[in-house]
Amino acid sequence: MIKKPLLDAMNEQVMHEMHSAYLYLSMAAYFEAQNLPGFAHWMRKQFGEEQQHAMKFFDYILERSEEVKLLPIGAVPTEFKSPEDVFAQTLEHEQKVTALINAIYEKATAANDAASQIFLHWFIEEQVEEEANATKILDMLKKIGGNMGALYQLDHALSKRGE
Ligand code: MG
Repeated sequence: MIKKPLLDAMNEQVMHEMHSAYLYLSMAAYFEAQNLPGFAHWMRKQFGEEQQHAMKFFDYILERSEEVKLLPIGAVPTEFKSPEDVFAQTLEHEQKVTALINAIYEKATAANDAASQIFLHWFIEEQVEEEANATKILDMLKKIGGNMGALYQLDHALSKRGE
């Protein structure tokens, strides 16, 4: 049994991860429209990864014989100013997700729910990686500025993303 405040937060997190997926899909559309296929590819991968995050919570809730309640997914921005703007928003978004994961972890600790704490360790590590990736690309975009050659080089590098 998962205590209610923790279970509610986990069900909300399914929605937050799906919202993240939807945000990155919107960013993929932006990059496609900008003819930056490498960036678009990176965002499509991110879209897939966020759906996997949602499914980890989904499956965990069911594994604990609790009820999954799917909540409405909010709208996401559909217009972006520049690649740098997109990655600034990505970093800000991932920082918010980190705070959400940390808050769920606090609920698991308060509930003395060791299984949930262990389950959440993966997400805590994942958020370190998510923030680091967004920070790295944002930093590169700041350095690139208006240099189109360098932008296309980064686009090519991002097209190689496997996972
Ligand atoms: Mg996520």
